[in-house]
Amino acid sequence: MKRYIRIGITHPLVGEQNNFIRPEDMRGAIQRLCSFRTLFDEQGVSPGLDCGFPFCRFTSEEIDWLNGFEYPPGFQCGPGPDIAPDLSVFHCLPLASYSRRSLREFRSLKEMNEHFQQIHKQIGKGAVGIFDECDGCRHREKGICSGGGRCQILHRRLIGADKS
Ligand code: SF4
Repeated sequence: MKRYIRIGITHPLVGEQNNFIRPEDMRGAIQRLCSFRTLFDEQGVSPGLDCGFPFCRFTSEEIDWLNGFEYPPGFQCGPGPDIAPDLSVFHCLPLASYSRRSLREFRSLKEMNEHFQQIHKQIGKGAVGIFDECDGCRHREKGICSGGGRCQILHRRLIGADKS
């Protein structure tokens, strides 16, 4: 077995009223993760980061710590299509009700993946990240950070639309 634990943060379920870690609370979640440092170090287990962790909310010292493991983390978000028992498919769990399609509509896995890559790009067109400073961020331009999860970006946009 790989000595690796994938750590996910709770995300907004688009179209639902669930509790989740908001952009302003990301630092607190990261501090909580780092509070387990001694355990990770003693057990030699790499903390893997699931989609949406913002690079800029880690201190450089925390980044150095994470990069010291066998499986260094990424700060990305990408489609991870899920297939439901009724053969409906969606971008990822938080976007389960967004642009849901049927597996039968695609002729191949490649075609389905391309479709969700397109959805991923479309969501990123209106706002590039979960913080205002994502626009023009050098870490995003270098591909180090994708600016948080697409579900958070979409949620932010929908909330903004509700207020206008
Ligand atoms: S892209 Fe956004 S979340 Fe990522 S490091 Fe830059 S400002 Fe932070």
